[in-house]
Amino acid sequence: MKYLCSKCSNQLTKFEIELNELYPVGKLYCEICQKKHERKLIEKLKKSFENDLDIYNFKH
Ligand SMILES: [Zn+2]
Repeated sequence: MKYLCSKCSNQLTKFEIELNELYPVGKLYCEICQKKHERKLIEKLKKSFENDLDIYNFKH
């Protein structure tokens, strides 16, 4: 059975399939798309963290 990246439809390597099994995100991603996905998550986290800091500063 072939595994394709759900974003760019590239065929996943054995290593990438193992990565997806270790860190399931609901969809199969190749390494490149996985990294893009992670960067988006990190940016979201960063933004919510900055918002928390704003609230913190406001209270003091
Ligand atoms: Zn991909």
